[in-house]
Amino acid sequence: MRQVAESVEMAGTLDCVDVSAQEYTRLLGYPRGWVLEGRALELANWAREWYAKNGRPWFYARQAESMEIDNKDGDTIQIDGVVFKSKRLRNALEQAGAHSAILVAVGAGPEAEEHARRCWSEDRPDEYFFLEVFASAVVEHLTTFAGARLCDWAEHRGMAVLPHSSPGYPEWDVAEQPRLLELMKQTRSENFPSCVDSFDSGMLRPKKSQLAVFGVTRHIERLQRLTSLIPCESCSFGPCQYRRAPYKRAPRTTGEPVPARIAVLDAGAQYSTNRKALQRWSEERLAMRSLPDGSIDITFRYDGTTCTNMGRPLAFLYQVKLGSQGDEYPILEQRCEPVAGDTGHMAMCKYIADADGLMAEIESEKPLIGQRLNSVLGWRREPNGAGCFCEAPSRIHKWGLVLETIHYALVQKELSGETEP
Ligand code: SF4
Repeated sequence: MRQVAESVEMAGTLDCVDVSAQEYTRLLGYPRGWVLEGRALELANWAREWYAKNGRPWFYARQAESMEIDNKDGDTIQIDGVVFKSKRLRNALEQAGAHSAILVAVGAGPEAEEHARRCWSEDRPDEYFFLEVFASAVVEHLTTFAGARLCDWAEHRGMAVLPHSSPGYPEWDVAEQPRLLELMKQTRSENFPSCVDSFDSGMLRPKKSQLAVFGVTRHIERLQRLTSLIPCESCSFGPCQYRRAPYKRAPRTTGEPVPARIAVLDAGAQYSTNRKALQRWSEERLAMRSLPDGSIDITFRYDGTTCTNMGRPLAFLYQVKLGSQGDEYPILEQRCEPVAGDTGHMAMCKYIADADGLMAEIESEKPLIGQRLNSVLGWRREPNGAGCFCEAPSRIHKWGLVLETIHYALVQKELSGETEP
């Protein structure tokens, strides 16, 4: 039996779930690259907004204390002393030289399911369908999100995470799900974040939940030889810096032309700022430059005034780097600093009180980093009209304006059929 020296346990709920438009469209059953329009777009937006307001997504992950691969009959493993029978999982763990397993549970929460049921009983089958599928997309996204967090954890320790497997997947009987759930609920320092039960049949309740087992190996070189053990081909996590293989469902690989019909941003977006202002700012304050790998460097100049000291003018430069359109514009870098030569910011009252502290705070704030640009639409923040940078809510408000302006500008490019900024 292999005991592990390292250990990981994570649990939590998420305020905002960045389900990619492409993944949602795919789960709705449309062909690759399809752009929703008309009633379908309206329903998709409705489901997304309903979930952003009412859904309570959660995740839990724990490294097993021990894992043993059975060598006798060749199709069982033991995790923390509990036997599971899956030839496929057992073989993958053995081939990769896995020394450990991480148990992951995720869920979209019961709210969406309950509301979808209500829609059905009220004879609103379209709403039922779009909300049901959106909750499924949330579960898929959460599994990817949890896998990405584990990949990051593993990479920093010279290890790699394998593709996950779950009861109900090929060669793993779904009837083993209750046993796996029971094992997962034996948490260490974290509480299991949601109420999940299982039926004898193996089905989970709420049904928009998923359990998964990820193997962990220190033999990274084996993965290069056995590409089926690399999870990246089926992982849609756009901002990943460790990717070992291109995402197979991606609409294009770098360098391939983008079909004009593919748009990844939500063209019917509800912005918190009026569109006229976004249009003016996108023309006057925004500059974008495409790089050969498809990423985009963006700058936005903000001009404001201090709230005290007789309203001295000040100017800050926002710099954002987005990944490619094919990856749905993940936010890779964010930075905010005074424009070179600006002295107005030194008249802000917080700067006068503690210049280093204020500038360090401004530099450290990178809201939505790692998420896709579309996630600005579901980002809940308080309106704050202060022109200065003294308080965090006013700085968050400005980041929201900057990201909405970028979103607006790129939507216009997509609508006009341009693929390069
Ligand atoms: S792309 Fe690969 S390395 Fe990155 S999070 Fe996904 S599975 Fe992990």
